[in-house]
Amino acid sequence: MVRPLHIRGAHVWDGRETVKRDLYTNGKRITTAPVNGAQVIDIEGYTIFPGLINAHDHLELNHYPRSKFRERYDNARQWHEDMNVRLNDEPYKSLRAYPLWDKLFIGGLKNLLCGAITVAHHNPPHKDLWRKDFPVRVLKNYGWSHSFYLSTDEEIQRSYKNTPDDWPWFIHLAEGTDEVAAGEYQRLDELGCIDGPKTVLIHCVGMRKQGQEYPGVPYIETDFVAPYVLGAVWCPTTNLYLLGKTLVDEDNRKYTPAVNALGLGSDSRLTGEGDLLSELKAAYECFGNNPNWASYVINLVFWDGGFILFRKSIQDWMFGQKYADMVVIQSTENDAVKLCNSSRADLALVVKGGIPQIGDTELMAKFTNIKTVAATLDGKPKAIHIDLAKRIHANALKEPGLEVEAIPKRKLFTFI
Ligand SMILES: [Zn+2]
Repeated sequence: MVRPLHIRGAHVWDGRETVKRDLYTNGKRITTAPVNGAQVIDIEGYTIFPGLINAHDHLELNHYPRSKFRERYDNARQWHEDMNVRLNDEPYKSLRAYPLWDKLFIGGLKNLLCGAITVAHHNPPHKDLWRKDFPVRVLKNYGWSHSFYLSTDEEIQRSYKNTPDDWPWFIHLAEGTDEVAAGEYQRLDELGCIDGPKTVLIHCVGMRKQGQEYPGVPYIETDFVAPYVLGAVWCPTTNLYLLGKTLVDEDNRKYTPAVNALGLGSDSRLTGEGDLLSELKAAYECFGNNPNWASYVINLVFWDGGFILFRKSIQDWMFGQKYADMVVIQSTENDAVKLCNSSRADLALVVKGGIPQIGDTELMAKFTNIKTVAATLDGKPKAIHIDLAKRIHANALKEPGLEVEAIPKRKLFTFI
């Protein structure tokens, strides 16, 4: 049983701004009114956001070092070829040998620590992702193809057709700056995989307006993509690392909001800089660190992410039967800007399904029914839920930057 909560004194993000209001849970979910027996928690001076939505990750690939073998790639196929010939070299050989669960757990933990409680996984749907003790919620109803360079045309078509229209169907597309990348939207259209309501395009860096002469401006133009696909996912740090270019920059920023929905994805640590907060920071930078864009940028991981994964707005997250997933920061003049500039250690508290997972010691102490263990995250003292601490200790792979103290043995009572 998860204890119902009545959280008082905090500001709460409502999709556009933060408002001071009480927040209630009936256990795992947010509810509209206080529940009998709810534990009252006063957190004056803090701001609560919903759990972040990571629209793109490869959860079994987050224990590898960030890797590339030349300064810039023209397209992702080149990177894959470079990577493939090294899979039996170290450190990849040893890292590949770990059990799948241990690898997936690190991917889940990476997301949990940065408040990305809901994640879209791009790879086979391993059963372990939906184990009760997996650190985050993973989208279950999805279809996917890897890309034009790792999937055949027939495989892409089959996967697209086999995905129900009300599920998202993901594919890496136009991950490059050359002609190959520029032609991929057209190729996908010719396969009949664009005109349904379920297509989600990952990366889109090399996409350009139909008929435009090379080297065209790589942007998603309003009347080109928006009516036809469910959305696109932007992974800025991966794009900048591999390609030296990303979807949004000074020249094309004004076109981006015209896409139905633009999710933000961390990709795996093989290419991404860190976690979803790193992407949020990079995205905000692409918008010139301009506070006028901060609400737009953070809604990539709230509204847009929710639309892509579930076709639902989560702006009403505090009113319906939504999971009580929360990310808490210390309030400032502009909380959207603060979130854009936050690293995982800056988060004061991360709550999943009404249960605090990790947070600043004084905040975690307010949840008196939760047992915690002392930890440090990137050098900052934290308290971590004992169940999560046990799973971290049991995992063969360690999360860089996270130290969790040993769990005290249960005292044995002796009768004299
Ligand atoms: Zn990817």
